[in-house]
Amino acid sequence: MSPNPLRNLPSVHELLESPPLKGLVDRISHNAVVSTARTVLDEMRREVQTAATEMTLPSVADLAERIARRIAESETPALRPVINATGILLHTGLGRAPLAEEAIAEAAAVARDYASLELDLSTGRRSRRSAAVENLLRELTGAEAALVVNNNAGATMLTLAALAAGREVIVSRGQLIEIGGSYRLPEVMAASGAVLREVGSTNKTRLDDYTRAIGDQTAALMLVHPSNYVVMGFAESVPLAELVDAGRRHKLPVIHDIGSGALLDFSQFGFRGEPVAGESIKAGADLVLFSGDKLLGGPQCGIVIGRKALVEKIEQHPMARALRVGKLTLAALGATLRLYRDPEKARLTVPLLHLLCTSADNLKNRAERLAPQAAATPAVAEAKAVADVTYLGGGSLPTQELPTWCVALQPRTISVDRLATALRTGTPSLVGRVRQDRLLLDLRSVLPRQDTQLIAALEALGKPADLP
Ligand SMILES: *Cc1c(COP(=O)(O)O)cnc(C)c1O
Repeated sequence: MSPNPLRNLPSVHELLESPPLKGLVDRISHNAVVSTARTVLDEMRREVQTAATEMTLPSVADLAERIARRIAESETPALRPVINATGILLHTGLGRAPLAEEAIAEAAAVARDYASLELDLSTGRRSRRSAAVENLLRELTGAEAALVVNNNAGATMLTLAALAAGREVIVSRGQLIEIGGSYRLPEVMAASGAVLREVGSTNKTRLDDYTRAIGDQTAALMLVHPSNYVVMGFAESVPLAELVDAGRRHKLPVIHDIGSGALLDFSQFGFRGEPVAGESIKAGADLVLFSGDKLLGGPQCGIVIGRKALVEKIEQHPMARALRVGKLTLAALGATLRLYRDPEKARLTVPLLHLLCTSADNLKNRAERLAPQAAATPAVAEAKAVADVTYLGGGSLPTQELPTWCVALQPRTISVDRLATALRTGTPSLVGRVRQDRLLLDLRSVLPRQDTQLIAALEALGKPADLP
């Protein structure tokens, strides 16, 4: 039997004495160096234990070098700006909607200084932190009252907990949605303490399916907008107005989860059937729930609007405190909502709406201008402007296509995947979409001011031979 190679691994103490790490202890922190050294040593041990053949251990100097590199990497922020050239406008992995300049400026201003978060400056009295934003929401949607929490999942869970814990909420089997990752309506409902009463079938639910399920245990009727799928063909669902009628007759509140939170009619951008928050209130929904960072184009948050008595009940639930938002969110949301006072202004200044409104001709011109510039960078063999289609994505209208134009790149000597990785990990980080032997840079989700950065990202790669 060969001697145990793990015995030859240096100790953390030994590593700390090596020159590169000694310097880092002073410059960054003792803890950071010790904890990174432990992690790298653990990885080394695992590598040795799982290696098929005997492996030579790196020298102390090599190991120290590796640890120093890891610490240097951890000094750059993990959350970095990305140029989104995937074409998906509401990419959850890329943080959904970018904020309007007005929203950024107001969030930055209250971040830097103390802020009038719970102080009414005119009276000197304590005020509710979200009062100003709630007034704007009431004005823009016609609702009696509003509440802002951490996200729409939070808004849903809180609403159900406050109004329906221990009692039943009736939902159509065709609307038990799952949103990418960990949001599943039946699970959110279970966690809230409300009991899900499913009615109808996957493809058809009629009004009497709801009304027959109503009993003394019923707390609410709920309608959910299936924002990331459609039931087509032999299908039927109950329109909001009919459910509202049934709710009135049985004295039950109707909750409408519209998901994407459009404040404007999206048919002007070519999208059909997207519920508008104010329309849902007008149609009689008692509560309407939506996200702030989807079609609204604001910061991550969840918004509840509707009847005053119900909103107040929700607000008084202990979970409301656990889900409340901070001053940065309130400042950014307030600024975004003020832009909507003039819909034309919102279209120009809310980045999501601006990207959506950009004409295919405009994208074509930019793609044709950028293609030769991209082709002149060392890692690119060929670049062409090509027409394509994309989607809003991120749980929003994934079945409706948006026309777009892309710069299609063919790399020089390296694979498309390698080019994609190099651009993703580069500075600035650029994420496109791979299609067969091309990397498509889709301009639908690229802000015009980012065009020069996009070329800079390609230039920064240098020659293919130098790529990692
Ligand atoms: C996106 C979405 C949610 C979850 O919203 P988050 O803000 O991501 O928590 C809930 N319901 C519907 C219908 C949605 O589209």
